[in-house]
Order: sequence, then C-alpha cells, then structure tokens
Amino acid sequence: MRVLITGAAGFLGSHLCDRFLAEGHEVVGMDNLLTGNTDNIAHLAGRPDFKFIKYDVTNFIYVEGPLDAILHFASPASPIDYLMYPIQTLKVGSLGTHNTLGVAKEKGARFLLASTSEVYGDPLVHPQTEDYVGNVDAIGPRGVYDEAKRFAEAITMAYHRAHNIDTRIVRIFNTYGPRMRLDDGRVVPNFIGQALRGEPLTVYGDGSQTRSFCYVSDLIEGIYRLLVCDFNDPVNIGNPTEMSIFELAHVINTMTDNPAGIVYQEGLRIKGDPQTRQPDITRARTLLNWTPEIDLSTGLEKTIRYFKDRV
Ligand code: UDP
Repeated sequence: MRVLITGAAGFLGSHLCDRFLAEGHEVVGMDNLLTGNTDNIAHLAGRPDFKFIKYDVTNFIYVEGPLDAILHFASPASPIDYLMYPIQTLKVGSLGTHNTLGVAKEKGARFLLASTSEVYGDPLVHPQTEDYVGNVDAIGPRGVYDEAKRFAEAITMAYHRAHNIDTRIVRIFNTYGPRMRLDDGRVVPNFIGQALRGEPLTVYGDGSQTRSFCYVSDLIEGIYRLLVCDFNDPVNIGNPTEMSIFELAHVINTMTDNPAGIVYQEGLRIKGDPQTRQPDITRARTLLNWTPEIDLSTGLEKTIRYFKDRV
C-alpha cells in the first residue's frame, strides 16, 4: 500500500509511520508542525519509502501519485494544546477532515479517522460503548476538540454513505508512551517530568477522576488491524484498566523514587474534565481479535526511560 498519514510528526502519527513502513508499505507523512515535531520522524529521513510534506491540511491538499489508504491523525490532542489553539483544532477536525476525505475520494483510497473518547464528553454511561452518544458541552473549553471530532465522525460517515468511501473510525482512549511531548500538559508526561525533576506531582482537583491508560504499541496494533478489516462503524481502542489520577500519581512517584509527593491544584482542573473514562472494548476484541498486552508498569517503565534523557 501507499498511505498518507496526516499528523505524521506527532506522537501517534510518527508511530504509525514506523508501523506502516515496517509492514513494507510506502508512507507519505504530512504535518504542519503546530504541535508535532520532526524529531519524531528524523530517523526516517532519507528512506526511499518515506516522504515528508510540511503542510496544513486545512487547506486544499494535493498529493502526487496513487494512495491506497489515508489515516487522518492531524490535530492538537492535549487539553492545553487545544485550549491554546482552539480555532486550529476546530479547523483541522472540520476542514482538515473534509479535505482528507476529498483526497480519499479522488484517489479511491480507504480512509481512517482518528477520533477520540472525548466524543463521549463527561460520560453518563460507564464503561463507554460505541453506541453511547455522549454528554458534551459544545461551548465549554473542551468543546473545541470534542465537537471538531464529532463533526469529523459525522462527515466521515456522510462520505461513506453518500460517496461510498471505505471508511474507519477509531475512538482513541488515553494513550501514552515515547514521543509524547514532555510539555504537552497531559497527565502522564506532566507527572513523569515532575517526578524526574524531584518535584511534587500536580493532581488537578481531588484526584478521584479516573482514566484508563493504553500503551502506544497496543494502540497502534489495534489501529492497524482496524484499517485492514472491513468495518465502518466506530471502534473504541484503549486499555480498560481504569484508575484514579491519585493512584496514577502514587504509581509514578513509587517507580521513580520521588520523595516530593503530591500537590492538589483545584484551580487547574479544566471545566468539563470528565470524572470517569473507561473503554468498553468488546467490539475491538471480537472484530479485531485485539486486546491490550502491555500493563501499566511495563508501559510506564519504557516511558520513564524515554523521558529521562529529555528532562
Ligand atoms: N491531570 C492532573 N495533573 C496534571 C495533568 C492532568 O491531575 O498535571 C488530570 C486532568 O485533570 C484529567 C486527567 O489528569 O482529569 C487526564 O488529563 P489529560 O490532560 O492527560 O487528558 P484528558 O484525559 O483529560 O483528555
């Protein structure tokens, strides 16, 4: 296959580039480097099967040559990033998805949309199944991301139904691992950075809110299987092992021997921050025969090792 990956210089996009190249495919990576970084794909420079194009996909996209698949991963994805770039976040989810779908139509390519557990908002159903329609505050601070991704899902299904494009939608739950930005504001890089500097971990609110953390290699495996299977409705990919943010802080302090403990920062909790989040992965298990394999301590160990050289 020859595949286009948008957001190729980002955390997930760069891991996808590696995976598709390892499977013997040719990759065209696109990124405007708003939140991505070419360091993540520097090891691919000069490969004849990889091409990088610095481009903002909210503008009309032209890619030379055939394409068999498009994976649309371009978007700010951490709460502080999408709060800093609210308009760009809305544009890449709406205009960027429209443009990449247009390329899929033009090239006759399969299309995979990176969606998110944020489409469920602050969920009232637990764990979240794909048929749950969500509880999203459109005008709240997180609305720019949530609604962009909800629109992206809507237009992806519309292109599937109206233009018969072969589409996939993956709803990605909290994922962590090497190549996250240390300063992207998400809880795992924040906590590991603080712990490695010997600082107290900043728990927003009382730390009772929960998340379920998936190691990046498990997520990439699930996405690869989804692309090559035949299924158009959304599929949750994530690790269902749920824990409170307080527990996560404790685990990271223990693993790094950080004596500085925890500080509670009530004021830094963003309005609408979901109180619970856990994927129901029955669909992924049955459809893709996929299940996460890396447990939290193994994944955190690899991630801590990566961040050690960067603090
Ligand atoms: N969080 C925290 N301390 C931090 C960063 C985040 O307590 O330094 C909390 C945040 O309030 C949220 C959870 O950790 O409840 C996960 O936040 P993250 O930004 O990683 O992503 P989200 O799942 O909210 O999109």
